[in-house]
Amino acid sequence: MENTVYDVIIVGAGASGLLCARECARGGLKTLVLEKEQLPGRKILASGNGRCNLTNARVAPAFYHGNEKLLSTVLSQFTYENCRRYFEELGILLVEEELGRIFPQTGKATAVLEPLKLAAQESGAEILTGQTVSKIKRGKNFSIATQTNQSFQARRVVLACGSCAYPQIGGSAGGYELARALGHTIIPPRPTLSGLVLKENFSRLTGVRAQVKLHVQNAQTQGEIIFTNYGINGPAALNASGVITRKLDGGNVPIQLNFLPEIADAPAFFNARLKLFSHRKPKDFFAGVLHESIANLLIDFKGLRKNKPMNEQSPAAVKSAFETVSNWPVTVTALRPWNEAMVAAGGVNTREINYNTFESLRCPGVYVTGELLDVDGQSGGFNLHFAWASGFAAATHLTQEK
Ligand SMILES: Cc1cc2nc3c(=O)[nH]c(=O)nc-3n(C[C@H](O)[C@H](O)[C@H](O)COP(=O)(O)OP(=O)(O)OC[C@H]3O[C@@H](n4cnc5c(N)ncnc54)[C@H](O)[C@@H]3O)c2cc1C
Repeated sequence: MENTVYDVIIVGAGASGLLCARECARGGLKTLVLEKEQLPGRKILASGNGRCNLTNARVAPAFYHGNEKLLSTVLSQFTYENCRRYFEELGILLVEEELGRIFPQTGKATAVLEPLKLAAQESGAEILTGQTVSKIKRGKNFSIATQTNQSFQARRVVLACGSCAYPQIGGSAGGYELARALGHTIIPPRPTLSGLVLKENFSRLTGVRAQVKLHVQNAQTQGEIIFTNYGINGPAALNASGVITRKLDGGNVPIQLNFLPEIADAPAFFNARLKLFSHRKPKDFFAGVLHESIANLLIDFKGLRKNKPMNEQSPAAVKSAFETVSNWPVTVTALRPWNEAMVAAGGVNTREINYNTFESLRCPGVYVTGELLDVDGQSGGFNLHFAWASGFAAATHLTQEK
């Protein structure tokens, strides 16, 4: 094997690397994938709670943080329709769930990983596992050394090493080091798609779910949050985490929770309700509108007297309570750490990447794809879509320049 010169060596048998390998091999390139774990695609298997939310019918740059030019180019080259057809042609039945999220019909992530891996191998790609790439040397060909002291030669290299998120299933900073050694700058990775740690103590709400609009400065997300012993999690919190993680360098981040996301003017709504129910005690007044535990917290927070009807409360306290329901201020002090963050914001600087081909502008012949790049998407299938799309774009260029 030491004398073989591969057309392309792909570092990382994750989402991006496997799809790229299949396309390179299918295009006639002698292709080797080196994977440090004993099994390929561990994050694919963990994704979507083991169900693999592999893309989204709404894929568009608006669902991502990152270089807009690169995103609009790659997402128009490999659209949602392209992605769906690609996986259907691998023999996978897909179903669409709410908010455009696409899953394999079996409800198992193996239904995505296995056909993709098989297709790569059937096209002729070799996959070697248990091989951590530790060094890439440029020369006439690239010389790729692994931690087990093996050495491989290739004309081209694809770095598809993913990010340092979720180290317990193989996330590592190794890809950043390889890219840095080849001349790239790394935007410091930060956890994203992770729970929000709040300064305020909401532990009495642990386990409570609520539909909210979550405002963070000029951005907002909408959906479910789940209160936890540290703060909040759930789709609306996760989707806000991409904006918040970038602001946390400047200190704590104030956010507001609107517990009546479908009501345009909460104070007006409650004032109208007062006309009907002013004889009720606060807990009964809010029943049917707010979760009981949230109502109790609001009553304590605003100093409403529990045993008095609404029409005997202080008008200022009532006004403040009504306003707070749609504009509850809380403070994010941190995101949950890497072992709970599904994705990394940051990574290889995309200004150093050709956004049509994903070839490095710093080290020609090297390609960088997937989550190793400074691109991160919201939850809902967008991150896997980017991993597939960028792997596809790199393979398209590699096979064309053959
Ligand atoms: C728990 C969890 C749930 C998720 N759910 C979803 C979801 O439902 N939908 C969605 O779109 N996204 C989801 N994501 C995110 C998604 O899984 C990733 O964005 C995606 O896998 C990134 O693809 P990638 O190919 O860039 O990296 P990865 O899939 O992480 O693959 C990188 C591979 O490179 C290998 N590697 C790294 N360094 C080296 C080295 N030096 N030598 C050899 N091999 C190396 C790694 O072991 C790994 O196998 C989830 C992530 C997690 C952690």
